[in-house]
Amino acid sequence: MDTIFYNGVIKTLDSAWPQVSAMAVKDGVVIALGSDEEMLALAGEETKKVDLGGKLAMPGFCDTHMHLLFYGSFVRRIDMTNAKSWEEIRQWCVEDAPKAREEKRWILGSCFNQDYWSDTRKMPDRHDLDAIADDVPIFLQRACGHIACLNTKALQVSGLWDERADTTKETMDFGEDGLPNGYIRENTTSIPQAIFGNYSLEETKDLLEMACKNALKKGIVQVHTDDFNIIGENDLEKNLQAFKELVEEGRLPIRVYEQIRFQHPDQLQQFLDMGYKAKQRIGRFKFGPIKLLNDGSIGSHSAALRQEYKNDPGVKGLSLFSDEELYQMYDLAQKNGYDVVTHCIGDASLEQVLQTVDKVIKKYPRPNWRHGVIHCQIMDAEQQDRFKKMNLVAYVQPIFVKADSNVVDDCVGPELAKQSYNWRRYIDMGVHMCGGSDCPVEPFDPLPNIYHAVTRKGSNGKPWYPENGVTLDEAVAMFTKEAAYASYEEDERGTLGVGKYCDMVVLDKNIYENDIEELLNTSVVMTVIDGQIAYEK
Ligand SMILES: [Zn+2]
Repeated sequence: MDTIFYNGVIKTLDSAWPQVSAMAVKDGVVIALGSDEEMLALAGEETKKVDLGGKLAMPGFCDTHMHLLFYGSFVRRIDMTNAKSWEEIRQWCVEDAPKAREEKRWILGSCFNQDYWSDTRKMPDRHDLDAIADDVPIFLQRACGHIACLNTKALQVSGLWDERADTTKETMDFGEDGLPNGYIRENTTSIPQAIFGNYSLEETKDLLEMACKNALKKGIVQVHTDDFNIIGENDLEKNLQAFKELVEEGRLPIRVYEQIRFQHPDQLQQFLDMGYKAKQRIGRFKFGPIKLLNDGSIGSHSAALRQEYKNDPGVKGLSLFSDEELYQMYDLAQKNGYDVVTHCIGDASLEQVLQTVDKVIKKYPRPNWRHGVIHCQIMDAEQQDRFKKMNLVAYVQPIFVKADSNVVDDCVGPELAKQSYNWRRYIDMGVHMCGGSDCPVEPFDPLPNIYHAVTRKGSNGKPWYPENGVTLDEAVAMFTKEAAYASYEEDERGTLGVGKYCDMVVLDKNIYENDIEELLNTSVVMTVIDGQIAYEK
């Protein structure tokens, strides 16, 4: 026996052994569960004994949609998450300007949300940013990631300054003077990011490793992460190489299930020609589904809706794929054995996906596919019924209700709002639903995410359609068991049953005994992967 964990409150999430105090592990796998006495009796001379100190232990968490590399790159930006006003943000940029000028770098900011500002709700345009500095490029990205604000210098350096409304293919806005006003959206945000975020292979490895180490501190043992063609286009080979080298060098401390992002069928075809197979593993790295981004966000009114935004007449958001292109992507993936997970926030975007999946699964039937929809926010009950009928996996971000509860009713009206984000109904229908943070949109901490899944509380502290929430057990399952299902690993991980990998998190408080509000004051004291302590507070 390699290790005995004892004196714990071990919630296995396995119905055969719901709760035990001790667990025996060999070669990274749970081989026996029971009382302290029973398990300690199995110890040999070499066995390591780990006292869990009476604390709650449970299967390690998995975040099923986030962006490791993007998060890593954000560490080099000013974090604007907690800004209470535009003035506060302006000050940060003013202070950073002399250093940026000296170091010949950009002024970078991330995660602002003007919905929380006290002085204005207007995002800064290029004139506002030029007033801070007109000789240093400035790039500030909204929390949703779908929109960024640039000053004139940044537009020039990015080659976007000469674009005009009637000729451009870029997603960007123009002022009354006909010139770019500094707002750029969706794919276009990757143009400046490819310039200032053109990391070397070594930098990429460092950023990924740092992100994984920080995830461990939150009890995360696996991430489903979307890292390719997101900071820059065509960086797949470099980023894949980074993961391979991290594996070889023993520097990948958590499991990575890559959501492989493409925006064009020819990019996807090139990848398929490289010969990697779906679910192929390279150490802790595993090829996951093809990831597509099909629309924007609710807050920036870029999520594709079937009806106009109720608070923005004439605007319906934007689907990034045409029906034909979307079909081509699914067709290529499905016939090559890959699943597809598509970012859909609006109901029009979801509708495209529902119709496309229906076609491809009939054309190329294959057993046990697990296509999914990431976010799946705005929808009506009829679409949700079809979602279930097609056995799609729902990848939801419960913590999004914090911000979205402030805007969704105004954007789509209460009738559609209460049918949307309806996690209760997903579970009642038997849909596999897993949880994620979309980090860096929200921090990759599963505990607050679980909290919002249960309480449905918005940033104002008020529950938002609380009847659409889930129980604590169901919320925990979203970050453990159901996450393992999404990556075809339900027989390997996601519970601490006998025969499963010993991936475990130990918390300082028992979330099952405390008031739900205590969840926000609960922290991780130990994270175990393959039976080894990978993080200890
Ligand atoms: Zn995302």
